[in-house]
Amino acid sequence: MASVSISSQLNKAVRQQYMSLPQGGKSQVTYIWIDGTGEGLRNKTRTLDQEPSTILDIPEWNFDGSSTYQAEGSNSDMYLVPVRMFRDPFTHDPNKLVLCEVLKYNRLPAETNHRRRCSEVMEKVKEHCMWFGMEQEYTLLGIDGHPYSWPLNGFPGPQGPYYCGVGADNAYGRDVVECHYKACLYAGINIYGTNAEVMPSQWEFQVGPCEGIEMGDQLWVARFLLHRVCEDFGVVATLDPKPMKGNWNGAGCHTNVSTKQMREEDGLQFIEKAIEKLGQNHAAHIRSYDPRGGKDNMRRLTGLHETSNISDFSAGVANRGASIRIPRQVGQERKGYFEDRRPAANCDPYAVTAIIAATCLLEPEQEVEKQDTEEEKSN
Ligand code: ADP
Ligand code: MN
Ligand code: MN
Ligand code: MN
Repeated sequence: MASVSISSQLNKAVRQQYMSLPQGGKSQVTYIWIDGTGEGLRNKTRTLDQEPSTILDIPEWNFDGSSTYQAEGSNSDMYLVPVRMFRDPFTHDPNKLVLCEVLKYNRLPAETNHRRRCSEVMEKVKEHCMWFGMEQEYTLLGIDGHPYSWPLNGFPGPQGPYYCGVGADNAYGRDVVECHYKACLYAGINIYGTNAEVMPSQWEFQVGPCEGIEMGDQLWVARFLLHRVCEDFGVVATLDPKPMKGNWNGAGCHTNVSTKQMREEDGLQFIEKAIEKLGQNHAAHIRSYDPRGGKDNMRRLTGLHETSNISDFSAGVANRGASIRIPRQVGQERKGYFEDRRPAANCDPYAVTAIIAATCLLEPEQEVEKQDTEEEKSN
């Protein structure tokens, strides 16, 4: 038996009795933000007098950055700036989840706030109507850190029957997957689908297509929902790109991309042009595709287990061992989208979509400057 958390075993029928109490027209709003690790999510809740109808009805707030690896020196208050609102699938209407950008005391973006630069890039390329779809792979663990439902001593049978599998011997933890899917639909996430992955206890959901900055917003909130659903079941979802060493698949966050031109008749030529530019920028992309500048992905992008080698760039139709894959149907129809298979499961979707948009659509002199610490130092 995999170990599940004690609090997941609290009496859920008792909880239900309180959850159905009327709340006097007030609205609970849960602010969600990315912490100083660039991977972790934090949240806290406050009461608003009425249900907010748009993001503009939700006020800024703040939090103690010294407790989230985010504070600078003695200025530990950080600003939470609401950017996108969703329905709350845990406490239901009229309650909301609101994704926030984090600003420092001087109102400059926090170090791990990659959204700011991403939205600047997306603004510059907006006439291209760039769509993204991201495939989030993850692995379920017990709270002891061992893959959920794996034998305590030893391993499950080798990979083969698990991908898109069915049956208690093949699919581990489907309850989490189905509840997360429903939670996404209720919240207003543009969830595209889900499937069991190659390694047992590993799953995937896809979000998209989403235009521009919305990709990052939606994926971060979909991740929040996943962690929150897992909490109810007493298990943990890890986005580590290679949770188990050896002959087990890693976890990626394949990023599918198209522009208006690519989606139109004979768009394939624009896909090919984009791929050529991506090839000239391989190293910079790898640095942006996990939170540790490529170190995490080194464990995953080995050239085995349906991955490309981290140091090589390659592209091909229907090739799952390439950096970039053109889906077979796209090759046949000569229009559509391409898939960048390099981003790690724990990537920041803002960093990933920003560099893809900049590389494919901006000339070098147009590129938005990296958030500039130089300027700050001189102040
Ligand atoms: P795979 O065959 O690689 O496993 P999936 O079915 O898991 O692919 O995911 C396909 C992804 O492609 C979805 O996230 C979807 O939103 C995205 N997608 C589909 N059409 C487009 C498009 N025209 N532009 C960008 N993304 C797209
Ligand atoms: Mn997929
Ligand atoms: Mn997959
Ligand atoms: Mn894929």
